[in-house]
Amino acid sequence: MCIFCKIIAHEIPSSTIYEDDKVLAILDISQVTKGHTLVMPKKHVRNILEADDETAEACIRTARMLAKRIVSRTGAAGVNILTNCGEAAGQSVEHLHFHIIPRYSSEDAITIAFNPSEKQDLDAVCALLAE
Ligand code: AMP
Ligand code: ZN
Repeated sequence: MCIFCKIIAHEIPSSTIYEDDKVLAILDISQVTKGHTLVMPKKHVRNILEADDETAEACIRTARMLAKRIVSRTGAAGVNILTNCGEAAGQSVEHLHFHIIPRYSSEDAITIAFNPSEKQDLDAVCALLAE
């Protein structure tokens, strides 16, 4: 059983801030910022790409609802809502989860940088990705 399934089964303690029949939301143990929360489905799915629509939708609906609550109760100035999918993208726990990271300033202990890299041929990329 994965670590989040153990939390869902109450085999490992957590700071739960929301629970329903499909979803659990707990405080992330690392608290990148005050109120950093993880929203996960009770059903074990590895990541957002492998989740069925109903599971993904339940998580996103709950993440939005809790992000509003967290921002309003902490007085945060903004929020990052993100899911890491795959090791290359920084996923360390292979059970789908959304991070809600309230943001107090651009100096918070989190860096999300969109750095320029290799120039792409946009026509070629568009031809690859468009229907
Ligand atoms: P990710 O790297 O996107 O897979 O995120 C996994 C997150 O799970 C990390 O931010 C960890 O701090 C968090 N985490 C790991 N174990 C626990 C735990 N027992 N309780 C709460 N959060 C945890
Ligand atoms: Zn699991």
